[in-house]
Amino acid sequence: MTTDVTIIGAGASGLMCAIEAGKRGRSVAVLDHAARVGAKILASGGGRCNFTNLRIGPSDYLSENPHFSKSALARFTPGDFTALLRKHGIAYYEKEQGRLFCIKSSRLIVEMLERECAVSGAELRLNSRILRITKKDHFLITTERGELKAESLVIATGGLSFRSLGATGFGYRTASQFGLRVTPLNPALVPFIFPAEDTSFFRGLSGVSLVASLRCNRSCFRGEILFTHQGLSGPAVLQISSYWDKGDEVVIDLLPDTDIFELFKLAMLSKTEIHTLLSRHLPRRFSRAFCDRYAPSGHLHDYSQKELREFADLLHGWRLKPSGTAGYEKAEVTRGGVDTRELSSKTMESMKVPGLYFIGELIDVTGQLGGYNLHWAWASGYAAGQYV
Ligand SMILES: Cc1cc2nc3c(=O)[nH]c(=O)nc-3n(C[C@H](O)[C@H](O)[C@H](O)COP(=O)(O)OP(=O)(O)OC[C@H]3O[C@@H](n4cnc5c(N)ncnc54)[C@H](O)[C@@H]3O)c2cc1C
Repeated sequence: MTTDVTIIGAGASGLMCAIEAGKRGRSVAVLDHAARVGAKILASGGGRCNFTNLRIGPSDYLSENPHFSKSALARFTPGDFTALLRKHGIAYYEKEQGRLFCIKSSRLIVEMLERECAVSGAELRLNSRILRITKKDHFLITTERGELKAESLVIATGGLSFRSLGATGFGYRTASQFGLRVTPLNPALVPFIFPAEDTSFFRGLSGVSLVASLRCNRSCFRGEILFTHQGLSGPAVLQISSYWDKGDEVVIDLLPDTDIFELFKLAMLSKTEIHTLLSRHLPRRFSRAFCDRYAPSGHLHDYSQKELREFADLLHGWRLKPSGTAGYEKAEVTRGGVDTRELSSKTMESMKVPGLYFIGELIDVTGQLGGYNLHWAWASGYAAGQYV
């Protein structure tokens, strides 16, 4: 069979690209090894899909080539996606900080994309295992179910996280096969784990959450952190994890709005126990465990001003060295990917291999938490869809 465009990967970016290319009258086939389309869309946002963010810009993305995302983001905005939802009668709402979610279910978004594909004439071929890709004049894609010839080939196979949702390293291997560079890959938006000697401390606090400010490698996020059996999770931890490399420290201000040393000084002569004072500002279970670990002797008047200063500094700058992350099995995305310096920011086409396009999470554009990754998938898919 011959098509104008073959897209490998029926996820967010691949489906958007198929719709746009189909609208232009191109014949499009979308191949996916999975039995259903959009598995990650379905899982996103806890089943409600945080599909975009009203405040979106290139600075919300990590990349070795930070300006690359500008062009695609300018041509496909959050308003463009919500217009599509309104056309299909899908209700959504803003949760906080511009994050938009479906009111009912992310399933509605997947169904909308399938309908749009059908209208634009794009053909979905699921359960298609790709065996080989070669290029002469055209791309020849060999699958277990036959061969396809295509003028344009779009690789939209996503990142490495959540193998259970269909992720493979196929896209990176294909990039390498055609001589494109892939920047270093790491799990991102991922919980931290800690060395064995800290495990009992974290396990004892499992389920406790608090609002803190986290710093790592000159990036800073404020938000909820959650103690887990293995370490730390929660939105602020996931955010900072994208900036963390093995061996780095993470510095946590546990009381970003309170000058705790001033409060210590005011209560210094009293018989108040330190953990009692702290528990007015932090969860009781955490205050107790933190004091047991770092300030075991109890009453405020047992401490000198210097010791209280040091303890206050610790509360405002708790330095932790994660031993690692929870890995691709728990990461929302993969940081790094196909080097964008080798792609056109307008079309997503490889500069070395005419007709070969890379879109979505697969390329070295990694969004922060809050709808940015799906938006990048829509925007890059849209951009390529205008040219393939
Ligand atoms: C649990 C979870 C929750 C998330 N929540 C959000 C959220 O709320 N908001 C947000 O913005 N982002 C979220 N993300 C990230 C977001 O889902 C992804 O960044 C986005 O789906 C990437 O789109 P994509 O098209 O690049 O890849 P994907 O949507 O991952 O699609 C890739 C497709 O390629 C197929 N494929 C892979 N390998 C092969 C192969 N060898 N042969 C054939 N087909 C193949 C896969 O089956 C899949 O259908 C979440 C991710 C996870 C894992």
